[in-house]
Amino acid sequence: MALARIARTNMRRRSGSAFGSYASVNDTFYGIAYTPLCPLQSNVYFKANDKFSHIPGIKEQNHLNFSMRGISGTPHYQHSSANTPRVAEVSETELEHEEPRYAGLEATKASEKPRVVVLGTGWAACRFLKGLDTEIYDVVCISPRNHMVFTPLLASTCVGTLEFRSVAEPVSQIQDALAKNPNSYFYLASCTGIDTDKHEIYCEVVNHGELPYEPYQFKVAYDKLVIASGAEPLTFGIKGVKEHGFFLREVNHAQEIRKRLLLNLMLSENPGISEEEKKRLLHCVFIGGGPTGVEFSGELSDFVMRDVHERYTHVKDYVHVTLIEANEILSSFDLSLRQYAMKHLTKSGVHLMRGVVKEVHPKKIVLSDGTDVPYGLLVWSTGVGPSEFVKALNFPKSPGGRIGVDEYLRVPSVEDVFALGDCAGFLEQTGRRVLPALAQVAEREGKYLVELFNKIGKQNGAKAFCSKDIPFGDPFVYRHLGSMASVGRYKALVDLRQSKDAKGVSLAGFVSWLIWRSAYLTRVVSWRNRFYVPMNWATTLVFGRDNTRIG
Ligand SMILES: Cc1cc2nc3c(=O)[nH]c(=O)nc-3n(C[C@H](O)[C@H](O)[C@H](O)COP(=O)(O)OP(=O)(O)OC[C@H]3O[C@@H](n4cnc5c(N)ncnc54)[C@H](O)[C@@H]3O)c2cc1C
Repeated sequence: MALARIARTNMRRRSGSAFGSYASVNDTFYGIAYTPLCPLQSNVYFKANDKFSHIPGIKEQNHLNFSMRGISGTPHYQHSSANTPRVAEVSETELEHEEPRYAGLEATKASEKPRVVVLGTGWAACRFLKGLDTEIYDVVCISPRNHMVFTPLLASTCVGTLEFRSVAEPVSQIQDALAKNPNSYFYLASCTGIDTDKHEIYCEVVNHGELPYEPYQFKVAYDKLVIASGAEPLTFGIKGVKEHGFFLREVNHAQEIRKRLLLNLMLSENPGISEEEKKRLLHCVFIGGGPTGVEFSGELSDFVMRDVHERYTHVKDYVHVTLIEANEILSSFDLSLRQYAMKHLTKSGVHLMRGVVKEVHPKKIVLSDGTDVPYGLLVWSTGVGPSEFVKALNFPKSPGGRIGVDEYLRVPSVEDVFALGDCAGFLEQTGRRVLPALAQVAEREGKYLVELFNKIGKQNGAKAFCSKDIPFGDPFVYRHLGSMASVGRYKALVDLRQSKDAKGVSLAGFVSWLIWRSAYLTRVVSWRNRFYVPMNWATTLVFGRDNTRIG
C-alpha cells in the first residue's frame, strides 16, 4: 500500500513535469522548488523532453493512463463534464508498473518562442490568427474543423446559389505559420479540459477510426491561451429537434440540407406518391425568424420560383416554404424594415406563421396550440447559447453563461487565458453588456486581441506568467456598424442604427441588396474566395442553380 502511494506520487510528479514545467507554484521538479518566472528574469530552467513527446508504446495508452497524468484532482483543472469518463479506477499493481505515456507538446523552454494556443477556427480565432506576429510567437490552433466558415453566405449554399467551397477558408491559408513553421501546428481535435495551474489543455481527436485507439487524447502546454470555441444552437430542450431537424452553422449542415431538399424533390416525383405525401415531402419549414431564417427563406423561395419551376415542373405546385416564429421576425431590425420583409416574403410565397414549437416528430411538428405541421425538411435556428464545453469550464460566467471576461478580454480569475467571440461575454462587474453573437463582434474582438498580444510580445510579456505587470493600454470597445439581411429576389435590408432604440439610416430594396452583396464580398477573407463568390453569383444568374444531388 505504502509502495503504491509513493508510485502514485512520483507518477504525478513525473507526468506533470515531463510534460510541462508550468506546474503550480507549490509543485517541485526533481527536488527543486519551482516558482514560475519570466525567462529574462531567471536562469531556472527545467528539463524538457522532445518537442512532441509521442512516447513509444502509445498504442497501449488507455483512459486510465491519461487520467493519472495530473488531469484529475488538480483544483484548477477545468474539464468538460461531457468528457469525464477518464477518471477511472486503477489497481495498485498497475500504478507500480505502468509508466506514464502520452503524446503532447510540453511547455516552451526559455530559449524558445512563447506558444499561443488558439481554440477554434471561427470568426474570432481566424481574425486573431491572421494578425499574429509569428516572429514573436509560435502558434498551435486546435479545432474540430480545419477551416473558417463565412457564415453570412452559408444560406446561399443550401440551394446552390454558391458552391460550398466558396464559403470555407482553410485555416492554414489564413495563418500559414500553421503549415510552415517548425513549432506551429494545427490539430484537428476538440479541447475537453484546461488546467490553468499547469498551463495545459487536454484534447480529444475528432476520430475517424484511423488512429491507433479511441478516444485519441493529448495535451498541449501554453504560454497564452485564446478560447474562441463559439456557441451552440439553442433548442430549449424541445423533444425531437436534434434528432429530426437540421441546424445551419457548418458547411456540412448546408450540404445535408441541400441533399435532403433535392432528395425530396426527386422522391415526390415517383409514381404512387399520394397528394398528401407529396405536400409533406415538399414542405420546407424553418423555425426562427432571425436574420438566418429570413435569409434562408428568401433563398429557398428564389430557388422555388426560378429553378424548381423550370426543372421540377411535375411537382412545382406542391413546394411550400413556412417560417415559424414565436414573436416577431427580425426583432432587432427597424420597424419599417420588418414590415418590408414580411410583405416581401409573403409575396414570394413564404408562409409566415406565429407559433411555439412543442415537439418535433420525424414527419411533423406539434405547436403548443395543438396544431400539427407536417414537413419534409426542417431547419432550426432559434439563437445560440453556451456549448457543453463552455458550461463545464469552472470559470466565472457572464450573464447568459458565457466565459466571463474583463474589458481586455482576459479571464480575470486565472493568468494567461483570454476568451472572445460567441463563447465570451463581459462579466457583470465590468458594467458592460454582453455583446450579441455576431461575426462583426467576434472579428473585432479578434483584431483587438491580436494587437494586444503583439504589443505584449514586444514588451517581453509573451511567456507564461509574464504579462502581469505590462500595461494593456486601451480596453476593447465595440461600435455596432449596423445589420443587413437579404430577403430574396434581389432585395435586402440595411439597418445602420447603432442599437435597437437609436435613430439612423435604414434602407430596403434593390440598392440595399447591392450594398449587402458588396459589403460581404469585401469581407470574404481570401482572394481565392473573392474570385469564387462573384463567379458563382454570375453562373447562377446565367445558368440557374446547380441541382445535382451528389452523395
Ligand atoms: C447561418 C449563419 C449566418 C450568420 N450571419 C451573420 C451575419 O450576417 N452577420 C453577423 O455579424 N453574424 C452572422 N452570424 C453569426 C456569426 O457567424 C457568429 O457570431 C460567429 O461565427 C461567431 O464567431 P466565433 O469565432 O465566436 O465562433 P464560430 O465562428 O462559431 O467558431 C467556433 C469555432 O470553435 C470550434 N470549436 C468548438 N468547440 C471547440 C472545442 N471544444 N475545442 C476547440 N475548438 C472548438 C468550432 O469548430 C469553430 O471552429 C451568422 C451565423 C450563422 C450560423
